[in-house]
Amino acid sequence: MSAVEDFHQSLEQLKKVERFRSLNAFRADGIYLITDSNVRLCNFGSNDYLGFASHRAKLERQGAGSSALVAGWTDTHRELTEALAAFEQTDSACLFPSGYAACSGVVSTLARDADVIFSDSLNHASLIDGCRLSNAVCFVYPHRDVVALRSMLSKHRARFRRAWIVTDAVFSMDGHLAPLVDLCDVGDEFDAGLIVDEAHATGVLGERGAGLTELLGVKDRVSVVIGTLSKAIGSHGGFAASNETTINYLINHCRSLIYSTALPPSSVVAAAQSLETIQKSSQERERVKSLAKTLRSQLGLVAEGLESSVPIVPVLIGTDKESLSVSRHLSRSGLFVPAIRPPTVPEGTARLRISLTALHTDKMLQELVSLLSDRVSELGA
Ligand SMILES: *Cc1c(COP(=O)(O)O)cnc(C)c1O
Repeated sequence: MSAVEDFHQSLEQLKKVERFRSLNAFRADGIYLITDSNVRLCNFGSNDYLGFASHRAKLERQGAGSSALVAGWTDTHRELTEALAAFEQTDSACLFPSGYAACSGVVSTLARDADVIFSDSLNHASLIDGCRLSNAVCFVYPHRDVVALRSMLSKHRARFRRAWIVTDAVFSMDGHLAPLVDLCDVGDEFDAGLIVDEAHATGVLGERGAGLTELLGVKDRVSVVIGTLSKAIGSHGGFAASNETTINYLINHCRSLIYSTALPPSSVVAAAQSLETIQKSSQERERVKSLAKTLRSQLGLVAEGLESSVPIVPVLIGTDKESLSVSRHLSRSGLFVPAIRPPTVPEGTARLRISLTALHTDKMLQELVSLLSDRVSELGA
């Protein structure tokens, strides 16, 4: 039985015992809720104890006050999930309080007892926590090493019911791209589902900005795409996109979705607006790409093919102390470039992490390059 058939069966079981939950959209009007079918209900399901969220809701249409399954779900939430599903070319999508909650929740919920997870060694902490929270056995494969992953799968896969491969699309501290096509191939070969976190790729990569899965043409081969509304989308919150059964399974079982307050409508509205804009922002995407290429070539950094245009550019320094010192040096000259130290990155690989945006000018880039080149050559790095 496939994972989806399995989820479907488990949901059917819930329906039999009246425990299946689905999200109902409400509109808030002070202490009242207006349902989808325009029924006005006095709200005894809110955690807005002092009425602050309701007051604000009147002023700014914001304030959720409840978890999505209780009364925190509105038409705007539903519309955003529909827009996200269309964007990701899936049937369905759901929202989370943050990208962290989406990653940790999706992995820990979908990978169950008797399952096995294969996780890239440089995955984001939120995916790692998802592995730790799940009841599945987890193996960490060397960063982007599909050959190693393949041999781990052939050694261990048979002992487990279902297998999941979990990866960042763009690795947040290195700007590397996951080899998604190869991961899909190896996933097919060993009947393993692929879960991809597009946090740094959404809005940036792909023709419509729909991420690395779009750029590499593998949207229909991936089991679940996870993303954040807080990076290129510029709002707050997280999402997952997949087939309808898997999304319903998350709505019914995923603890970080069920037991946390729903996103406030203000974040949802902001995200929905950005999502529309993002799909038309190819000019900004081209601009960021060209800045990234220029910066890499001027700093003498080697990156292959598609990777040369990723707007995360790490400059490896080595020791924590020296990274901090270069970062301070830059900030004295008016440039903020954060130093990233362990445990965020492996021991001995402290670095500066430069993130580029379409708002950076050529002049800003030149200044960064010249300050950095001086300083880094001084350190002999
Ligand atoms: C930022 C990030 C997240 C978490 O997203 P938030 O919305 O900030 O919680 C998850 N995964 C990756 C790869 C990230 O970089």
